[in-house]
Amino acid sequence: MPGVERVPLVLASRSAGKLRELGPLLQQHGWRALTLDELGVAVGEDEDGLEAFDTFEANALAKARYFAERTGHVVLADDSGLAVDALDGRPGVHSKRWSGSLLEGPALDEANNRYLQDALLEAAQRGRAERTARYVCAAACVWPGFSCVELGTTAGMLLDAPRGAGGFGYDPYFWSSELEMTFAEATRDAKAVVSHRGRAFRALFAEMEKLSMNLLSPVDPGPWSG
Ligand code: IMP
Repeated sequence: MPGVERVPLVLASRSAGKLRELGPLLQQHGWRALTLDELGVAVGEDEDGLEAFDTFEANALAKARYFAERTGHVVLADDSGLAVDALDGRPGVHSKRWSGSLLEGPALDEANNRYLQDALLEAAQRGRAERTARYVCAAACVWPGFSCVELGTTAGMLLDAPRGAGGFGYDPYFWSSELEMTFAEATRDAKAVVSHRGRAFRALFAEMEKLSMNLLSPVDPGPWSG
């Protein structure tokens, strides 16, 4: 529609790995992304406690609502994790700090991956030797008076040695059944086509377009007014 711009969307994530994937994904779908850092949103003491629910959907919505209230913007958030069949779906929503490490970035990923290998060995000793797993992602959007959330999944196998230098988190050990390589070996674009995050966000964008989110103008105070 001429003269109507899409609202910018705030990406409510502090994870560099997620932001590297989500920025280009939004751009490809014609959305302008703002990060929390760009908006100068300081890390809140209550942020770590936001993901206290036992479903990905509830956690993603809680995170998006919290930052919508803090920033006054339309906000996107995701909650994601690894579900390992031999561990009956664990670590699931606890994937980020599964190992208990309080570190961040690559050091946290390393601790989690060591923990994953130990857990797989223990499971095999208990007779659960299967190596199948899924990544799951819930992508949520919150704006005044409305919210929506969509789920995406992707299947694979867990290797016992890392392969590749890309991606983040458990990616060097996650061999994608669809790409036939680990997510750390795949290019960012290839990963986005089949990944849990790519699928969840594409479904979310489709839903937002259906609800005419794309017609909200940033210069029109619209539902934020009053
Ligand atoms: P959260 O969504 O911020 O709670 O974190 C999810 C955690 O799951 C991340 O810190 C990673 O450990 C793991 N994870 C989620 N998605 C991916 C992915 O695409 N690659 C690798 N690890 C992931």
